[in-house]
Amino acid sequence: MDCVIIGGGVAGMQAAFSCRQHWPQKTVTLIDAEPEVGYFRTLLPQFMVRTLAPSKLFFRKPEDDSRFVVRPGLRAASLDRSNRRVILENGEKIPYERLILASGGRPVIPGICVRSSGSGIFPVRSLTSARMVQKWLPDHPQIVILGGGLVGVKTAAHMARPEMTVTLVEKEDHLLPQALSPQAAALVKAHLQQKHIRVITGHSIEDIQTQAAEIKAICIGGKEIPCGTLLVAAGSVPDVEFLQTSGLLVNGELAVSASLQTCDQHIFAAGDSVTVMRAGHFTPWTWPQAITQGKLAGRNIYARDPLQLSCLTRVNSMNLNGLSLVVLGAPAAGAEVVAYARPREGIYRELFLKNGRIVGGALVGDISGAGVLHAAMNADVEVDKNDEDLLKPGSRALRQVSIRCFRPARRVLFV
Ligand SMILES: Cc1cc2nc3c(=O)[nH]c(=O)nc-3n(C[C@H](O)[C@H](O)[C@H](O)COP(=O)(O)OP(=O)(O)OC[C@H]3O[C@@H](n4cnc5c(N)ncnc54)[C@H](O)[C@@H]3O)c2cc1C
Repeated sequence: MDCVIIGGGVAGMQAAFSCRQHWPQKTVTLIDAEPEVGYFRTLLPQFMVRTLAPSKLFFRKPEDDSRFVVRPGLRAASLDRSNRRVILENGEKIPYERLILASGGRPVIPGICVRSSGSGIFPVRSLTSARMVQKWLPDHPQIVILGGGLVGVKTAAHMARPEMTVTLVEKEDHLLPQALSPQAAALVKAHLQQKHIRVITGHSIEDIQTQAAEIKAICIGGKEIPCGTLLVAAGSVPDVEFLQTSGLLVNGELAVSASLQTCDQHIFAAGDSVTVMRAGHFTPWTWPQAITQGKLAGRNIYARDPLQLSCLTRVNSMNLNGLSLVVLGAPAAGAEVVAYARPREGIYRELFLKNGRIVGGALVGDISGAGVLHAAMNADVEVDKNDEDLLKPGSRALRQVSIRCFRPARRVLFV
């Protein structure tokens, strides 16, 4: 076999399409542990509450390509690099000429959930568990979501329906602690509360009570909250367990160069499973990055002149069931903050600046100008922190930034 890909999430799929496009004479075999592949993981919350038509969940259209084979339902157990083979859990050995690792992330399940014997606890990560939640929810509409990060907040926003009660629990003092400042997070919290979602911050689950083999309540801050469905969104970690003996991990991380090559010249990697070593450790685990990296890995896998990733930001855009949000980058220690707020309209925009350069920020409620600010951040363009209109939607100051970003030619290259 020519190119083998482990992982059929967005990074693996994009790598496959890109490899077939750039190296049409090469065959591609993609292996994934799940029975279904090529779906929008980001839309699982809507899918769980049936507000998304099942047909809209999949981005992969059945391809008419005899040189691209997808093998779902198979898990890679280890690599035999000296013989260039992937060993599957079922014992099968798959030879490769080139290999792309795109095994993504696996959910973190807190010990209290692992120890519970009750049914009704589901991680929010895969379509397999989302299908189970879909069936379970109608009879268990008292929902608790554990984790107020991106996945938990998105899930809560889409679960807000009259027939359900939803409680979101975050152990830090505000929602989205790794992405937003307390001020920006306050708007997200207010939006969720408007949708009748109960938000509890600064606490975690202390106990899970069960009855007749199903969970029935959780305890937080000594109080009991009825709960028939516990959705776990407590973060994810790279799914690289099967690479433990491969020699590819550096301090437990799947380290790749800026061209996404591992320490083995025949093996590249992309997406949530990797750490990019470029002027530090970059773990930009987002959907847009998984797409960009997948495409680049597929292009680079047979290239004599591998290209490098040009964009290592973690920019993320989403709609939280009525509230638009763009995260340009997390609050940075020692950064100056420039903010623009129209609280009554639910708008808050902020930038984090170091030496006059944008190193992060967020736009809540009004995301206009996000592309310009992202480009300025990427191109390291200096902005005027004293200009009061810098963050005002549609302002002259924003247009000036845009002109400087794109002059004399576009300096931001997206691979
Ligand atoms: C509910 C939800 C909402 C999200 N919303 C957003 C959002 O709005 N914006 C954003 O930027 N990001 C979002 N994310 C994160 C985003 O989905 C991930 O960054 C992205 O899916 C990573 O893609 P990937 O292909 O690297 O990994 P994954 O999507 O995790 O895919 C990896 C695949 O590899 C398979 N695999 C793993 N190990 C093996 C093995 N040993 N053998 C075979 N197959 C294996 C897995 O089954 C999986 O299908 C969200 C995530 C979730 C769960």
